[in-house]
Formats: sequence, C-alpha cells, structure tokens
Amino acid sequence: MIIDGKKTAADVRAELKMQTAAFEAQYGKKVGLAVVLVGEDPASQVYVRNKIKGCEEAGIRSFAHYLPADAAQNEVEDLVSALAEDENVHGILVQLPLPEHLDEARILARIPAEKDVDGFSAENIGRLALKEEGTVACTPLGVMELLKRYAIDVKGKRAVVVGRSNIVGRPMALLLLNADATVTVCHSRTRDLKNECLQADILVAAIGKPKFITADMVKEGAVVIDVGINRVDGKLVGDVDYEAVAPKASYITPVPGGVGPMTIAMLLKNAVSCAKRAVR
Ligand code: NDP
Repeated sequence: MIIDGKKTAADVRAELKMQTAAFEAQYGKKVGLAVVLVGEDPASQVYVRNKIKGCEEAGIRSFAHYLPADAAQNEVEDLVSALAEDENVHGILVQLPLPEHLDEARILARIPAEKDVDGFSAENIGRLALKEEGTVACTPLGVMELLKRYAIDVKGKRAVVVGRSNIVGRPMALLLLNADATVTVCHSRTRDLKNECLQADILVAAIGKPKFITADMVKEGAVVIDVGINRVDGKLVGDVDYEAVAPKASYITPVPGGVGPMTIAMLLKNAVSCAKRAVR
C-alpha cells in the first residue's frame, strides 16, 4: 500500500484550520509564526515561501523577516530576541543554513524552547529523550503521524532507522522508542547494514543517498518510510529504490508525495501547539 503523504498533509491542514479558528475565537488573536530568512539562497527562499503559504491556508498569521546575506550577528540575534518577546508570535523559525559568517548556535539559542517550532533546541530534544511534553522536529513527527493515520502499529515492532542526524534520524529513533518499538539506529559506521535492515518490520531511511536502500535489504512485508530527498537529473528521488522495494513492502512512502508534504504540515501543527501551550 502506498502511503499518501500529500493527502494526509491536506487532512492535517484542514484540521488545523478549525483549531486556529477556535483559538482566534477564544483568545482574540491568531496563532502567530515568525519566519526569519537571512540571505538569498534559492532553496531556502522556496522553503520559506511554502511555509508562509502553508500558514495562510491554515489560518496562522505569519511574520516574515528577510535580512540581507551580509546581516551582522547582533542584527540577527536582536531580531530573534525581539520575536521571543512578542506576544503575537507563538513560534519562531530561523531558516537554515545561515550564511557562513553567522554563528548558528548563538542565533538559535535566542529562541526560547516554548517558541522553538522546529524542536531543534537542546531542551526540546532533552524533553523528547525523557518522554516529556515538548516540540518535536517536524520531519520525524510527520513520519509518526503517517504511521498513526495508516493505523500501522509500532508497539513491539523492530524498527531500524538509517541515519542519526539531529533533525531526522536521532529524534525519529526516540519517537519510535517512545512508541514502544525495539529500535536500532544505523549510520555510516554500521557493520553489515544490509543484515540490520533485513531485521526491520519498520525501516526508515534518512541517509541522503539516492536509491541507497535496495530490495535485498528489505524484509518481505516491511513498512518502508523514505525520508530522503535527492535531486538526480532534475528529478526528486528518495533514499529507497522505490520500484524494486515497493513489491516487497506492506506499506511504502513515495518520493515525492510521501514524508515531504508532512514536514510543513507538522511545522504548522507545532506552531498551533506552541500557541495553545502559551495560553494554558
Ligand atoms: P544528514 O546528512 O545530516 O545525515 C545523514 C545520515 O545518514 C548520517 O547519520 C550518516 O551517518 C548516514 N549515512 C550516510 N551514508 C551512509 C551509509 N553509507 N550507510 C549508512 N548510513 C549512512 O542528513 P539529514 O538527516 O538531514 O537528511 C537525510 C535525508 O533526508 C536527506 O536526503 C534530506 O534531504 C532528507 N530530508 C528530508 C526532509 C523532508 O521533509 N522529507 C527533511 C529533512 C531531510 P553518519 O552520522 O555516520 O555520518
């Protein structure tokens, strides 16, 4: 079965629209999300545009701040600090990567944990590790939402996550663990990756290498989640060799149209959650 991320993301956005309307009716203001873009990186511009469009569609007020590529460290930090103080802003997102001359960690540190919609802060990652309430990184959260909405039971299953980045692999493994899966995390130093992958009831690929997961690495009937987004000859390709793996999988996410659309939907969901916690 093909997991339709596009449709699921649309369902999530429709639900959020009702929640943002209810929030506005109750508190007299909209859920607010601030987006900070420094410089003119074309990919970042597209991401920011899509995020702002997503906000509009979900009834979230967006505060877009565009700074020039040569913006000074203190200029960016002061902007983030001002947004942190602004009561109309419930979530702050600084689009990464930042230009080379800027100290990313110091800028992100200005985002208070309760407005960290990306869930990148040490506090939010710590909360996830402790299974406490907090904000979780959008992409792995989107994967969990797909599993939930397709009624794929995680409990007691063997989950293998290939990739251990702070924004995908690591939080993905923690989420699966918190959902009672038995989790293995693989990375570039893993010995016999094929054998590890073959154990998986649920296989999550977050590697960044086109068609890296081949059919011989996948157990018959496994759920295959492809987080990868790679551009090959102008086309988007996942980390999984979709054509070869799909006949073996019980469920599989396509690229594009799988995990990708869920990421922005979860960003909006995180913004709504931050706003609800702010008024609690
Ligand atoms: P990173 O480059 O930060 O991490 C890649 C991970 O894959 C690392 O942990 C690395 O191991 C591991 N890896 C690399 N090569 C191998 C190998 N040969 N065998 C086993 N493991 C390997 O990437 P991200 O986590 O940021 O992103 C992963 C993919 O997901 C990318 O394609 C990215 O574009 C996509 N992505 C998609 C999103 C979406 O919205 N759908 C959002 C974010 C990312 P090690 O730690 O040892 O180096």
